[in-house]
Amino acid sequence: MPLRLYNTMSSQVEDFHPLHANEVRMYACGPTVYDYGHIGNFRTFVAVDLLQRFLRQSGYKVRYVMNITDVDDKIIRNAAQAGVSVQQYTAKYVQAFLEDSALISIEPPHFVRATEHIPQMADFVARLVEKKIAYRADDGSYYFRISEFPGYGKLSKKDFSGILDGARVDVDEYDKDSARDFALWKAPKPGEASWQTPIGSGRPGWHLECSVMSMEELGESFDLHAGGEDLIFPHHENEIAQSESLTGKTFARFWFHARFLLVEGEKMSKSLGNYYTLRDLVLKGYKPSSIRYLLTSVPYRKQLNFTFDGLKQAAVSVERLRNFRQRLRSGGFPGGSNPELQALAAETLSRMQAALDDDLNTAQAQAAIFDMVRKVNSALDAHAVNTGDTAPLLAALDRFDEVFAVINDDDSAKMKTISQWALSDGREKEISAELRDQIQADQISNAAIESKIAEMEAARKARNFAVSDALRAELVGAGVIIENTKDGVRWRRK
Ligand code: AMP
Ligand code: ZN
Repeated sequence: MPLRLYNTMSSQVEDFHPLHANEVRMYACGPTVYDYGHIGNFRTFVAVDLLQRFLRQSGYKVRYVMNITDVDDKIIRNAAQAGVSVQQYTAKYVQAFLEDSALISIEPPHFVRATEHIPQMADFVARLVEKKIAYRADDGSYYFRISEFPGYGKLSKKDFSGILDGARVDVDEYDKDSARDFALWKAPKPGEASWQTPIGSGRPGWHLECSVMSMEELGESFDLHAGGEDLIFPHHENEIAQSESLTGKTFARFWFHARFLLVEGEKMSKSLGNYYTLRDLVLKGYKPSSIRYLLTSVPYRKQLNFTFDGLKQAAVSVERLRNFRQRLRSGGFPGGSNPELQALAAETLSRMQAALDDDLNTAQAQAAIFDMVRKVNSALDAHAVNTGDTAPLLAALDRFDEVFAVINDDDSAKMKTISQWALSDGREKEISAELRDQIQADQISNAAIESKIAEMEAARKARNFAVSDALRAELVGAGVIIENTKDGVRWRRK
């Protein structure tokens, strides 16, 4: 079964095949770097990361490009208010975005920056003018004449038959129902940042940036273009209009849009007090792996309602996976293999593949791995696991983690980095007691836990209870839960 993906253009789930044999070329609209990224942004970015990871797992080579919008109306306004240049203003947020992406285990795409492609953008406008699709207004701005592109509205399925020819809009984001000639290039207003180019001085419009950079990196036609659902109109509609009227070719073949995330049932907004950056959550003591797990727990086209209960639940799920892997790795199983477990590992692999092939049904893939965990835990309790079973079961876990990226544990190092950032950024007050506890608890490595447990057991056998009790207390203090079972000591982290 090939991968099937929903295509916003056809409003259908379609078989996905790339244009070039085994290589997928995809583009995601990246962040506008005027602030720290919030969890809504990362819902979309993690969804696209999961897609590209799954494509690679399925055997494709993936060329994945993401732009960084480092010039737009808001950036220019904020930079001017702060009295710094556009570059100075955005540098901090570009850096923060790269760090946050790593924090949430996003594999870095090939990043491209708007401000590094200004000459190509001016040239693109000049070619549209030559074709009489774009025109210059008296102030030196350039507009795209949408009446020249009959397909306008085909992505958003809006009917623009009654549009006013020549009515214009010069802001990047505008009323969802108004179709107007949109700005390709904006002449500078007094005091605003601008670039000197053959079409005059000014700056590119946001829509133009993505058309130019995606085609430069991936060709005039490429496989997939992604973003959050709010970008369908006007941003993606305008990208299509600009690109296709210039090339006469299909711009992107698949349009992938992630549904907007809600927080505690409401649209996230600063005024409602339910607005969270990734860093806010880590400062509250939540692990990056829990956040990533929660963001992927609902398929990308379904509404994800972010709640703190859900986040705590996600932490429990990740911990179960980690403890399960720990149990399998701890060894000491009898030789041979159990055919039922061998079959279970194979079935889990194919259930995960089928779920993700089905328009990235992440919830079903997670259900498959947890069915395996439950069954194998029972088998472990019943001493029905043999040495030969651990490799295929661990391989199924690894395959899951290639895409979901939550089991490998580097939370504590990441949390330490965020706490250091908070200290250096004057946000010491925002570091919660929970975050301090987590960092404290994770000071101790797995290897150190194992060796202390071995010491504790040796002391106990030698009836040196004062020493064994002290070691136990030390481990408990570091957040390790120790259980004595008839098979010996088992441990996990709190
Ligand atoms: P921006 O930095 O505002 O350009 O947004 C970056 C990406 O995040 C875009 O793909 C947006 O569609 C996406 N996005 C913004 N808010 C949300 C949200 N609440 N849920 C999901 N995606 C979002
Ligand atoms: Zn874009």
